[in-house]
Amino acid sequence: MKRSIFLIFSILLMLSVLLTACKTEKVTTINGIKLYGELKITGIEFKDNTESEYVVPGQKVIITTEVEYTDEEGKKASTVSKDVSIKIDSEAPIKLDGSEFIVDATAISGQKITITVSVEEKSKIFEYIVLKSPDKTIGADGIITDYGDIDAIVNKERSLPKDYVPSDLVKLTVPTVLANPEINQLRKVAADSLSALFETAKIQGVTLKARSGYRSYSTQNALYNGNVSTKGQEYASKYSAEAGKSEHQTGLAIDITSSSAGDELTVDFGETKEGLWVKENAYTYGFIIRYPEGKEDVVGYAYEPWHLRYVGYELAKEIFDSGLTVEEFFALK
Ligand SMILES: [Zn+2]
Repeated sequence: MKRSIFLIFSILLMLSVLLTACKTEKVTTINGIKLYGELKITGIEFKDNTESEYVVPGQKVIITTEVEYTDEEGKKASTVSKDVSIKIDSEAPIKLDGSEFIVDATAISGQKITITVSVEEKSKIFEYIVLKSPDKTIGADGIITDYGDIDAIVNKERSLPKDYVPSDLVKLTVPTVLANPEINQLRKVAADSLSALFETAKIQGVTLKARSGYRSYSTQNALYNGNVSTKGQEYASKYSAEAGKSEHQTGLAIDITSSSAGDELTVDFGETKEGLWVKENAYTYGFIIRYPEGKEDVVGYAYEPWHLRYVGYELAKEIFDSGLTVEEFFALK
């Protein structure tokens, strides 16, 4: 009897030793799944909470990583983590906070944001383009609030304040057609780009002339009323803007022409060597053909191959590549 009790006791002791040995194998629980032994990272995926490459000023972007682990038996489990390291380019208009960033409220359409996200040895580059939301930059009175920005959208539904005069107008240095000093001005950034555009054109055998740049509210008022009384209301609203609704008041729009078009603003300019060159190349210096052919219903004005609008290189390229008008690009129409 004593012997058998001893035997049972011994067996129980051995069993418990064995069980303890099994239990000491490393167990890691990930997302409710038990993994055994040493784990290996077998996959890292980076994700963000945006649905497109476009971000709006003020938007919060959250970056997460999904890390997949595999145990010694080949069993897998993954976990989502915000523990990432993010590097941003110095120009990016964002405020970084851990694995999140907020796009600056003052960011301009076309600005690029490039960030590099890393975990362990793996990294991924995320690229975004800022695109303003036009409904956030207009008051109930139809007057826009971002009139000083190079991406401000001005049209028949979006007016400039009556007293808005850009503070950085400069005299054009390119050849001009008319003597009026007011209209031979643009905002500095646009004037500099226009000079560069004209110089490049010249090198390629294309000679351009500037005809009408900045126009004050009162100049535009006189022009529009003059058009109404001489050519009638219909013509006036098709070819000229009411005061406050002209892009020329932004100091970022310029009407250009060439000797081949008689130095005039005519649709024929679009078919000249000069007009065709401008159509293909203006965006490389930040200008777009604001009122393209066949888009009158969208932009509100007849085709004007001569009317260029400066929006900055980045945005001009985006718009040019899209083949859309400003109104379509910003989903206003
Ligand atoms: Zn114009």
